[in-house]
Amino acid sequence: MLNIEEALQAILDHATPLIPITMPLDKAAGLVLAEDVIAHGNVPPFANSAMDGFAVLAADIQQASEAAPVRLRILEDVPAGSIATQPVRPGTAIRIMTGAPLPDGADTVVHVEVTRAEGDDVLILLALKNGTNVRSAGEDMMDGTVVLTAGTVLRPGEVGVCAAAGHATVTVHPRARVAILTTGSELVDAAEVPEPGQIRDANAHSLRAQVAAMGTEPVVFARVPDTHAAVRSVLQQALIQADIVLTNGGISVGDYDFVKEVLQEMGAGLIFWRVKQKPGKPMAFWTLGSKRIVGLPGNPVSCMVCTEEYVRPLVRHMMGHTLLYRPVRTAVLDEQYAKGSDAGRTHFVRVRLQERDGVLHATPTGPQGSGILTSMALAAGIAVIAEDTPLVEAGQTVHVQLTDLPEDH
Ligand code: AMP
Ligand code: MG
Repeated sequence: MLNIEEALQAILDHATPLIPITMPLDKAAGLVLAEDVIAHGNVPPFANSAMDGFAVLAADIQQASEAAPVRLRILEDVPAGSIATQPVRPGTAIRIMTGAPLPDGADTVVHVEVTRAEGDDVLILLALKNGTNVRSAGEDMMDGTVVLTAGTVLRPGEVGVCAAAGHATVTVHPRARVAILTTGSELVDAAEVPEPGQIRDANAHSLRAQVAAMGTEPVVFARVPDTHAAVRSVLQQALIQADIVLTNGGISVGDYDFVKEVLQEMGAGLIFWRVKQKPGKPMAFWTLGSKRIVGLPGNPVSCMVCTEEYVRPLVRHMMGHTLLYRPVRTAVLDEQYAKGSDAGRTHFVRVRLQERDGVLHATPTGPQGSGILTSMALAAGIAVIAEDTPLVEAGQTVHVQLTDLPEDH
C-alpha cells in the first residue's frame, strides 16, 4: 500500500498539462497562459490627460497663485475620443477631459479645481510642475514588449492587461473536463425523504462544488445503482466526455463494489489502490489512454478529503498551474489527538483555526469519522498527522494545510 506522498507522486507522474487552446479572453478568466502576451502598440497609445482641466504650457503658469492668477485664452474643448485642431501657444489653454490626447505644444494639465473660467478665458490659481497630470504614451506597456509571461494565471488584472494590449483571444491551458460519477443503490436525491435503508446523496454535490472551485468544467452524470451494467455504461460515457473521471463509492471490498472490476475489463491500467491514510484508504487511480480516473471512496468525508489532497493538485497540474499546494502553517494543537488502532497511516484531521497572541492554534472539528460531514463544513484547515506519529499531545505543534486559501507552492 502506498503512503500519501507516493500516491500523490504517482498521480502527478501520470498527468501532463492539457494541450493549449485559443479562446475568447472573457472565457479565460482563472486559466493559465500557455504563451507570452506581447503589447500590440503602446498603452496608452498617446500622451493624454489624467484629469479634467486645462492643457497649458508649464512655463506660462509658474507665477500663478490664488492671489495672482494667470489669465489664459481658451482656444477650444477636447473631450475624450477627440483631438485638438490646433496647438497650445504661449498665453493660451485648451479645455481637456480625462483621457483626451494632450494637444501639441501643451506639456501640463491644470486640474479644473484650481482654475476659474471667465468667459473665453481661464484663470489659473496654482503653479504646477511641467508634466503634471499628463500620462505619457507607453507608460503602462511599451509596444512589442512582453507584458505577461506563459504560466501566468489570468486574474481580473491580467484579463484587463490582455485587453489593453490588444488581445481579444488568448492561448491558455483549457479547463479540465471532470466527470462526476456517483454510485450507490442506497442513494436518493437531496430533495427526497429517504425510505428505510436509503440516504441522501451528498457526494454528487460536494464533489461538484469542489471541482467547480478548481476552475474545471464539471460534467455530472446521473447517479447509478450498484450493478455491473450500470457502472460500466456510465464509465463508458464519462471516458468519452471528460479528461478526468471521478467515481465515488464502490471501490472497497464489498460484493457490490464494481468500479475496479469494470475498469479492469475496460483495459484501464491500475496505478494504485489503497493509500495509507485516514480517511480515504480505499482510494484508487487508473489511466486509460489520455484519461485519468480517480476512484474516490463513498464515505462523504473520505470523498472530499481525497478530492482536496489528490484531485485538486492533479487538476491544477493539468490546467497548467505551477502552484499545486495550499499554504502549510505550523499550529499548536489545542487538544490531544490519538490515532489509536489506525496508527501507521497518515491522518487528515479537519481543524478549526484561531490566532491568539500571534500564534496559530488548531482544534479538531469534533468527531473525525469518515461519515461526519459536518467535520468538513466546520473546518478551516486540515492537520496532517504523519504516518509515524501515533499521538499528538495538546500543546504540541502540527502542520496544517490552509484549505480556504489559494495555493502558494
Ligand atoms: P462505498 O464506498 O460505496 O462503500 O460507501 C461507503 C459509505 O459511504 C456508505 O455508508 C455509503 O452509504 C456512503 N456513501 C456512498 N456514497 C455516498 C454519497 N454519494 N453520499 C452520501 N453518502 C455516501
Ligand atoms: Mg457504495
